[in-house]
Amino acid sequence: MDIGTRLFRSALLGLAGNRVAKKFSERYGMKLGASRFVAGETMEAAIEQARRLNQSGVMVTLDYLGESVTSIEEAEACERAYIDLLQAIRTANIEGNISLKPTQFGLALNEDLCLAGIRRVTREAAERGIFVRLDMEDSPWTDATLRIVRTLKAEGCGNIGTVIQACLYRSRQDVRALSAEGINLRLVKGAYKEPPSIAIASKRKVDANMRHLIKTRLDSGVYTAIATHDEEIIQWVKSYTRTHNVSRSAFEFQMLYGIRTPLQVSLARQGYTVRSYVPFGSSWYPYFVRRLAERPANVLFIARSLFKK
Ligand code: FAD
Repeated sequence: MDIGTRLFRSALLGLAGNRVAKKFSERYGMKLGASRFVAGETMEAAIEQARRLNQSGVMVTLDYLGESVTSIEEAEACERAYIDLLQAIRTANIEGNISLKPTQFGLALNEDLCLAGIRRVTREAAERGIFVRLDMEDSPWTDATLRIVRTLKAEGCGNIGTVIQACLYRSRQDVRALSAEGINLRLVKGAYKEPPSIAIASKRKVDANMRHLIKTRLDSGVYTAIATHDEEIIQWVKSYTRTHNVSRSAFEFQMLYGIRTPLQVSLARQGYTVRSYVPFGSSWYPYFVRRLAERPANVLFIARSLFKK
C-alpha cells in the first residue's frame, strides 16, 4: 500500500469514531451510498436480503448495527433487538446465524453486564440451533472479547465463537491457544486503525500472516470461517484444502454483503459453504466508513452516485 493510500485510509478510519460526522451522515440516511453495504435500516429489510442470498445458495450471518453504546438502556435495547432477530430468523426459515459486537452490549460500560447480555442471547440462540459470533473490534477490546467467549464456552455454550485479526502480532499465539480449546474462529485481516507497536503495518505482511493463520486452523481441524474477498487467498485455500484432504465441512468462506456477490454465488455453486455478513439497522455510519477505508475507490464510487440524477 503506498503512503498516500495509507494516509487516506487512516484519515477515513479516524472519521469512523467522529460523532459530528456520524450525526451529519445519519441525517442524510442511506442516500450517502451506505445501501451498497448495508441491507437496510429495518430487520424486515435484512430478512428479505437474507432470503434472497439463501435462494442463491449463500448462507448469512445477520448483524444488527450499533457499537460503543454509552448507556445501559442502549445495551438492553440492543439485546432485545437480537432476541427479536433470533425469532425472525426462525420464523422466516433463514439459513443463518448472528454476529454481534461486545461494545454494543455495553463492554465499555461494564464487562459483567456485557457478559450477562451476551449470555442471554447465546442461550436463546442455542435453543433455536443458531450460532453466535462475537465480532472483533479494536484492540482495547480484544482481551475482554476472548474472556467472554471462553467463559461462555466453559459454561457449556457450544454455539459461540469469535474473530481473530491477522494484522495483530498477538494473533498467532491467540490462534494456537483458541484452536487447542476447540473454539470456532473467523479469520480476517483486520478493519481498525491500530498502533504500529501491536499491529503489522505492511499489507503484504498482513496477507502473509493471514495465510499462516488459515493454515494453522485448517491443520487443526477446528471449524474455521475464512473471511476475505482476496481472490489470491481464496484460490490458495481451495488448492491447500484439496492437496491436504481438508474436508469442506471443516471450513467456510465468508464475505460482506454487497462485496464480490458473484464470487460468493460462484463458490457456493462449486459446493463450498459461503456465508454473507448482512448488517442492518440505523446505526450504520462506523461500519460504512470502515468499508470505504478498505478500498479508496469506494469513496469515488459513492461520490459519483451522489452526483447522478
Ligand atoms: P483486501 O486485501 O483488503 O481486499 C481484497 C480485495 O477485495 C480488494 O482488492 C477489493 O477488490 C475487495 N475489497 C475488499 N474490501 C472491499 C470493500 N470494502 N469494498 C469493495 N471491495 C473490497 N474486521 C474486523 O476487524 N473484525 C471483524 O469482526 C470483522 N468481521 C468481518 C466479517 C466478514 C464476513 C468479512 C468479509 C470481513 C470482516 N472484517 C472484520 C473486515 C476485514 O478485517 C477486512 O477489513 C476486510 O475483509 C477487507 O479485507 P480483505 O480480506 O477482503 O482483503
